[in-house]
Amino acid sequence: MLIGLIGHPVAHSKSPEMQNAAFAHVGLSDWRYELWDTPPEMLPARMRTLSEREDVAGCNVTIPHKQAVMPYLNVVSEHARAIGAVNTIFKRGRYLLGDNTDWTGFLADLAFHGVDVNEETRALVLGAGGSARAIVYALASRGARVWVHNRTPARAYALLDDLANSPYLREIRENCAVVASPVEPACREANLIVNCTSAGMWPHEDGSPWPDDVPFPAGAVLYDLVYKPRVTKLMRHAEAAGARAIGGIGMLAEQGAAAFEKWTGVPAARVSAIMRKAIAQP
Ligand code: NDP
Repeated sequence: MLIGLIGHPVAHSKSPEMQNAAFAHVGLSDWRYELWDTPPEMLPARMRTLSEREDVAGCNVTIPHKQAVMPYLNVVSEHARAIGAVNTIFKRGRYLLGDNTDWTGFLADLAFHGVDVNEETRALVLGAGGSARAIVYALASRGARVWVHNRTPARAYALLDDLANSPYLREIRENCAVVASPVEPACREANLIVNCTSAGMWPHEDGSPWPDDVPFPAGAVLYDLVYKPRVTKLMRHAEAAGARAIGGIGMLAEQGAAAFEKWTGVPAARVSAIMRKAIAQP
C-alpha cells in the first residue's frame, strides 16, 4: 500500500524516513511512504487519484494544502474542522476522511516529557499561523488558560474568533485572550510558553520571537515547535534563564505516529519510539 505527502514543496520532509521505518518495524513490508509534490493546480487531480487508486491508503497534507483539501473530503473530523486544517487523510473504501494529528501530537510529546496540560496550565502561545491554531485548540481543550501573542495582532484575533465558534470550545472561550506583547503583565503567570512562530527556524537561526533584552521566565517550560535547528536561539535564551526548553522534533514524531494509526490500525504507541529514533539525527 502507498501513503504519500501532499504539499509543495515537500523534498525537505522527514516523514518518509520515519514512516518507512515504522512500516518495517511492524512488518508492513509492502507499505511505502512517498513524497507527492503537488503544486496548487495539480491538487484536483491528486485528490481524484487518492480516492480512486485501491493501492493508496491515505496521505499527509502540508503547506499549502491543509485547508484546500477539505472540500474534497467526504468526512472532516470535528477537531480538524475546529482547527481549520487537515494534515492526515485516510480512506474507508473510496471515501476520504480528514483529521488533524498536530494537536494530539503536541499533547503526546508534552506527556512524553512529563508535562501535563490541565486547568492549572497558564500558556502563552507565540504566533497565529497554521500550527498555532492546532496548539491553542489542544491547550484550550484541556482547560488551560491561553494568551496568544502574534506580530500581526489581527491574525491572533481571527484565530480566537474561529476557535470560539467550535462546539468543543464554546464554553471555555473566556479562557483565551490576545496579548499585545509577550511580556505583558497579564501573562507573567504563564507556566508554559509555546513558540508557534517560524522565527529562529533554519535558515534564519538568529531569529527569536522573544525580545533579547527581556529575561525569559525562569519557572516556565518552553516548547518550541521549530525542529530545524534542534536547539533554537529561543531555547538557548530560556535555558540560560533557568527554564526548561523542549524542541519540536518529538511533536513531529507523535503527529506521524497518530497518522500511522489512522492508516494502518496499528496503535501509535507501538511506533512512536521507532519514529523518534528515525529522525533523531538532524
Ligand atoms: P505559518 O507560516 O502558518 O505561521 C508563521 C507564524 O510565525 C506567524 O504567526 C508569523 O507572524 C510568525 N512569524 C514569522 N516570522 C516571525 C518573526 N521573525 N518574528 C515573529 N513572528 C514571526 O507557519 P506554521 O504555523 O505552519 O509553522 C510555524 C513553525 O512551526 C515552523 O517553524 C514550522 O516548521 C513549525 N512546525 C512544527 C511542527 C512540529 O511537528 N514540530 C508542526 C507544524 C509546524 P505573522 O502572522 O505576523 O506573519
